[in-house]
Amino acid sequence: MSEKMAQDIGFIGLGAMGAPMVQRLLRAGHRVVVHDLNAAAVRVATEAGAQTAASPAEIAARVPIVMVSLPTPDVVRRVALGENGLVKGGQMKIYVDLSTTGARAAVEVAAGLAPHGIAALDAPVSGGVTGATAGTLAVMVSGDAAAFETVRPALLEIGRNTMLVGSQVGQGQTLKLVNNLMCAANYAVASECLVMGAKAGLDADIMVDIINKSSGRSFASEKFVAGAVLNREFDFGFLMELMSKDMRLALEEAEAAGATMFTCTAAKQLYAYAMSHGQAQSDVTTLIKVLEQWGGATVEGKGSQG
Ligand code: NAD
Repeated sequence: MSEKMAQDIGFIGLGAMGAPMVQRLLRAGHRVVVHDLNAAAVRVATEAGAQTAASPAEIAARVPIVMVSLPTPDVVRRVALGENGLVKGGQMKIYVDLSTTGARAAVEVAAGLAPHGIAALDAPVSGGVTGATAGTLAVMVSGDAAAFETVRPALLEIGRNTMLVGSQVGQGQTLKLVNNLMCAANYAVASECLVMGAKAGLDADIMVDIINKSSGRSFASEKFVAGAVLNREFDFGFLMELMSKDMRLALEEAEAAGATMFTCTAAKQLYAYAMSHGQAQSDVTTLIKVLEQWGGATVEGKGSQG
């Protein structure tokens, strides 16, 4: 990238998704200032060339564009609007939320930042840690079109499938929640059906291989099951409690919109059951273990690259 195209970007949240995003921004030549509560994650970013800041306010006092990839709506509200939050800095002009936080939080944060001359874009992503590492994420941006044009080159580094999906703040979040609710419910269904097949004596590798070439396939059967269940690694890279949060936010938006969510509500209860049995901090793919225990059969094989 030419020196002219390189941008000064702040980045808060160096977790499973944020860390590889920062690596990509640095490799593309951007100057990145990072902040995270986890010192080890900050160290990895600085070793790759990032600078550090002690607080969100310090980042917002130093750079015009700040991206965040944080776990929950409450953390995002605190980082953006709280004491020592981004709102206290003076340089920042564009805020980009890459987290999944729901439309309500996106609208609240945008309203809190607007009086300070900061444009907010919600830009939730899909494609997992693999997509974040490869730069192939889908990035669903909504908000001000001019602000989007400014950050578009950097977002394309993060996800080559970056798209402005709406002009109103929150629309990207709603689209992301629709997507994740479908993915979560698909995985609940796949888990139930595959345990049924295993219990009936089908070979797990053959069953999953054929389904992934047939009409029952989904991202869940291809990436979760083939990539992380068959080999019993359960290492897709997305925590069960984060998926459960996405389902809760999605069903809250469905309730507000008056949409009927019969099947997805049942799926959410299955995740809630797994969470209440110690799986909140486990990979989302461990959901199938609940059904394996109930059914008395495991979906185990050699697996594939997923
Ligand atoms: P994570 O838990 O791995 O990372 C979150 C990071 O935020 C951690 O490094 C944590 O230390 C940091 N953090 C928490 N509170 C903080 C604070 N107050 N100030 C500074 N840093 C703070 O989560 P993740 O898997 O990277 O997900 C991040 C977001 O992306 C979530 O909203 C998630 O729903 C979404 N997402 C995740 C995936 C995935 O596959 N992991 C895919 C798409 C979207």
